[in-house]
Amino acid sequence: MIDYQNILDTIALSCSTSKEKGKIANYIPELAKVESSKFGIHLVDSAMNNFSAGDADEHFSIQSISKVLSLAHAMSLVGEEIWKRVDVEPSGDPFNHLSLLEFENGIPRNPLINAGAIVISDILVSNLENPKTDFLNYVHMLTNDSSIVYDLDVAKSEKETGFRNYAAANLLKSYGNLNNDVETVLDFYFHQCSLAMSCAQLTKAFYIFMNKGVCQQGKTHLTIQQEKRINALMLTCGFYDEAGEFAFEVGLPGKSGVGGGIVALLPGKYCVATWSPGLNPKGNSKLGMEALEKLTTATEQSIF
Ligand code: GLN
Repeated sequence: MIDYQNILDTIALSCSTSKEKGKIANYIPELAKVESSKFGIHLVDSAMNNFSAGDADEHFSIQSISKVLSLAHAMSLVGEEIWKRVDVEPSGDPFNHLSLLEFENGIPRNPLINAGAIVISDILVSNLENPKTDFLNYVHMLTNDSSIVYDLDVAKSEKETGFRNYAAANLLKSYGNLNNDVETVLDFYFHQCSLAMSCAQLTKAFYIFMNKGVCQQGKTHLTIQQEKRINALMLTCGFYDEAGEFAFEVGLPGKSGVGGGIVALLPGKYCVATWSPGLNPKGNSKLGMEALEKLTTATEQSIF
């Protein structure tokens, strides 16, 4: 039996004393207000035993981690139709890059870069009666936690400064790959990215991806094929132009966000979330990546 608690305590100690913490994202001004010394880690195993260390219950902006939840919701609503509008290849580019989108006629490389996630937002806006409320309810259902909310200050801050996302949405619209208007879709997208969650809550939400589509309450949300596809996308596209590095160092499917969170999972075994707001030059949490590398090295478990 692996002593997860002991491993997490050791990781948290070494991360919280680390001097090289990376740089907090400030292109969304509201994100820059977070304290750089924060570090949290939470792991839930398949039997629903919970282990945590550091600031694992503190809420932070999950940002791009939300793209996996919106994708899962869209897949369960419209199924395979999605792949007519979004590809499934790694981009090798930063999350907000635009040139491939132009080059490939408005079909985003994958649903986990911004352009792809904006198409997924468009699908949700078309298929949900009250998109923002319904999506929040979906997250409440996955986590069995109705205390989770959008951080409206973060959503507003991104709306005021999200020029590249406006560019991406307008480009998608010009290619006929956005059915609703740009404002409506981006309003939804900025809210989904602003979800405030803790490491512990994130592991509850992502439990379905390590448990064949079934949440902690025993309800099935995804088919086994859908769960396979989402994990494949996380492994190949979850860290943008650092997906190879994450697979190389950590060896798990996962997803990062510029709020400093990372969620990763070992199918059938555990789901883990880390939070440290300082980012590396590729926009992924510096200490979060190091913590997960330490976890898979100490446990000698990965998907490989
Ligand atoms: N909301 C952010 C953006 O669109 C998400 C980016 C991220 O977390 N990588 O820029």
